Amino acid sequence: MPTEQHVVVVGAGAAGHTAALTLRQEGYTGRLSVVHGEAHPPYNRTLVNKGALPGVLTPEQIALPPLDSLDVQVRPAIATEYDADAAELVLTGGERLRCTAVIAATGSTPRSNGLGGGLVRDRSERLLHLHTIQDAVRMRGLLGVDPGQASVILLGAGFIGGETASYLAEAGVDVHLVSRPALPLAPVLGKEIARRVAALHRDHVKSHFARTVVDVRAGTDSVAVTLDDGTQLETDFAVVAHGTVPAAAWLNGEMSGIRVDDRLRSQDIRGIYAAGSVALHTAANGDRYRIDHWDAAAAQGAHAARTLCHDLFGAHDPGSYLPATGFTLSLYRQPLAAFGVPLRGAEEQRQPTSSPTGVLTTFRAPGSRALTAVAAMGAGRELMAWRDRLQRP
Ligand SMILES: Cc1cc2nc3c(=O)[nH]c(=O)nc-3n(C[C@H](O)[C@H](O)[C@H](O)COP(=O)(O)OP(=O)(O)OC[C@H]3O[C@@H](n4cnc5c(N)ncnc54)[C@H](O)[C@@H]3O)c2cc1C
Repeated sequence: MPTEQHVVVVGAGAAGHTAALTLRQEGYTGRLSVVHGEAHPPYNRTLVNKGALPGVLTPEQIALPPLDSLDVQVRPAIATEYDADAAELVLTGGERLRCTAVIAATGSTPRSNGLGGGLVRDRSERLLHLHTIQDAVRMRGLLGVDPGQASVILLGAGFIGGETASYLAEAGVDVHLVSRPALPLAPVLGKEIARRVAALHRDHVKSHFARTVVDVRAGTDSVAVTLDDGTQLETDFAVVAHGTVPAAAWLNGEMSGIRVDDRLRSQDIRGIYAAGSVALHTAANGDRYRIDHWDAAAAQGAHAARTLCHDLFGAHDPGSYLPATGFTLSLYRQPLAAFGVPLRGAEEQRQPTSSPTGVLTTFRAPGSRALTAVAAMGAGRELMAWRDRLQRP
């Protein structure tokens, strides 16, 4: 293998970190750089709301293991552009890195849905996202020494909004949870589990479901939100949790992500591979999908690295990426888990469980009826058996 090879991984989250580790494990001995665009050293983002926000873990405790011993150069910088003709990555300040190949692992950023043009966090100290360690530190400050005296509006009842509502309610915070869908998370958990989740929210926080936000006013001491039915809410602060958009603009100027083939090679730019929540996959029926979960990002980082080693020096071909990883979620101490990717319009089917109160839902792709996802609440045993049968969407 020529020594002048230089692989650059952009982003050091789940996907980027695992990609760098896997490149070395698979025998890539050339130059390896990781471009890291955040103020804190690389960390486990899933612990932002579960560790850093409650203050049970410090930023140091949620850091990912350093890559130094693997002869990886971590570059604190932001990639601003990729010059495909010159095969050069452009960093902040104009520095250019010559690359043999790039693994794009830049993840996603919070969507703001018109509530500030993508920069909600900069508009007011009291209107924020919950995506980074800095966000968690800010939110802790807003909760004050006695969270029992604090009030918050969570805009969005997806994973982040729902999980944060659960944590804050337990901490005694006065929580308003606003959701446009009447059944939050139904597309990923299925209608039956989503009905139970909605009931849990209603039992624990002030839930405003099937409502849209018509106005948000963030002041110096509070945030006021008006809903489409005229409801006026005013709390100490508000969190915008409207999902994420892929951080792909630096590479292709697009908001939809980086289109990849089944091996996680870019379909549009030679020498580029993509992994994690920035990668846009194509299902057999032509649907595009992204997966924004930690284990999926790590699995994709490993897969993209293996594909790259195959392309660079003939290492074992990893085959098609199978998105069969999952996530767990704890809402008001009720555990939920799901694996795979439910496509839009999937056929949902409730399956028998050994627990009389458990729910297990399988998802089959429209058309092919391939089993692509499974979700469970109180049915962990059966869930694992179904997980092992998952197929590529
Ligand atoms: C609060 C919170 C809780 C979560 N909890 C869970 C959970 O319990 N379970 C679960 O499965 N998932 C959870 N997730 C989702 C999970 O964290 C993400 O799916 C996962 O981090 C995606 O990994 P990634 O490597 O694709 O992106 P990230 O982990 O986001 O890493 C991307 C990195 O690239 C950097 N970057 C972006 N653009 C550039 C650029 N141009 N140049 C250089 N660097 C750049 C970013 O700043 C970031 O550091 C949670 C997310 C959040 C925000």
